[in-house]
Amino acid sequence: GPTIAATRPLKAQVGGHAGIETTEDDSLLIKPALPREIEFYQRIAAAGDHDELSKLRNWTPKFLGVLKLEGQLKDSNAVGDGNMEIVPVHGNIVPEDKERLVLENVAYGFVKPCILDVKLGTVLYDQDAPPEKQARMIKVAHNTTSGETGVRFTGFQVYGNDSSEPILTPKSYGRSIKKEQLPDVTEMFFPVSSAPYPSPPNSTETSDSDVSKPQSGLPAILLHCVLTTLQDDLEELKATIANIEMRMVGGSILIVYEGDWERAWKTLSMPSGTATTEEEEEEDDDDDDEVEVEIDENGQLVLESIPDEAIEEEEEHQALLCSLSLIDFAHTRLIDGAGPDEGVLKGIQTMINLLRQRKDKIAAML
Ligand code: ADP
Ligand code: MN
Repeated sequence: GPTIAATRPLKAQVGGHAGIETTEDDSLLIKPALPREIEFYQRIAAAGDHDELSKLRNWTPKFLGVLKLEGQLKDSNAVGDGNMEIVPVHGNIVPEDKERLVLENVAYGFVKPCILDVKLGTVLYDQDAPPEKQARMIKVAHNTTSGETGVRFTGFQVYGNDSSEPILTPKSYGRSIKKEQLPDVTEMFFPVSSAPYPSPPNSTETSDSDVSKPQSGLPAILLHCVLTTLQDDLEELKATIANIEMRMVGGSILIVYEGDWERAWKTLSMPSGTATTEEEEEEDDDDDDEVEVEIDENGQLVLESIPDEAIEEEEEHQALLCSLSLIDFAHTRLIDGAGPDEGVLKGIQTMINLLRQRKDKIAAML
């Protein structure tokens, strides 16, 4: 399993502050976090199934626990419910003030992860922020797409087909654009390949598409699948958020899709398909319970899956065509009686509209 003590900087970080690390195998993230964000993940993890909040578990990275700098291993039986504290015994981690969240890396398992961070909401300041900061953030919202549309494209990365390195568009770009340009930026993140229609894997036909692969982009038919899945996900997310009384400031939607053609085709031909089904989500919950913490020979913490009847699942991480998550709860509050966050809902609707527009354009190419 992944070793918590051996970490390195997250390579595929498209937005936010530096300092996020991954385990050596890339499967888990370690994010320095404010108490507010840790508490939010703990509340989601603890929510009973009748509680609307529990539905957010479908849309947030799996929460494995909290790393603290000192103390001892507590509650090792409770691993996976998000309530435990994982404590490094030998202090292999560079000390810092903040506690760290241990989260699933939602880009793990993608061969060429195309990643987009979209900041949600029309209100970009916390209710407790000092007046100067509030005034500043009101201006930022006004001068960017946030105020009017509830979204701002933070960073994103896409891959060229013949390149193993991603092409990054930084957050300065998303901050500079106007509302009218949002469809064009959406197109930059979802480029369609202009190459000849590629043969699906296992096709006996020899295609010349291999020699004429374009700079970047998926074939239209694959991109259409990606957009359809994401649009459905966004509708579900919107319905969930509409029932939760919260204020989310500075939080994001993180979209990942597979930019590698062969791999993308493969996910479609797999029996479990693209999107996660209800049953699979339940299986995922079970997976949580199968994670165990161990301390290895070197006194380092190791998270391990307990092998059981589902051994075949261990051989390879489930390949996905795309994924959609809600991330970054540093300034999110649950407030009873406040009603849903209308600015966040507006942002989700903006994304739905942008994806629909992009999908319609691609459908016309099919
Ligand atoms: P910050 O508070 O610094 O904005 P975020 O939580 O927004 O931190 O994360 C910053 C970036 O790190 C994101 O834009 C994304 O690229 C990456 N990231 C964050 N969480 C995850 C995750 N669970 N899986 C994969 N990448 C993530
Ligand atoms: Mn962020």
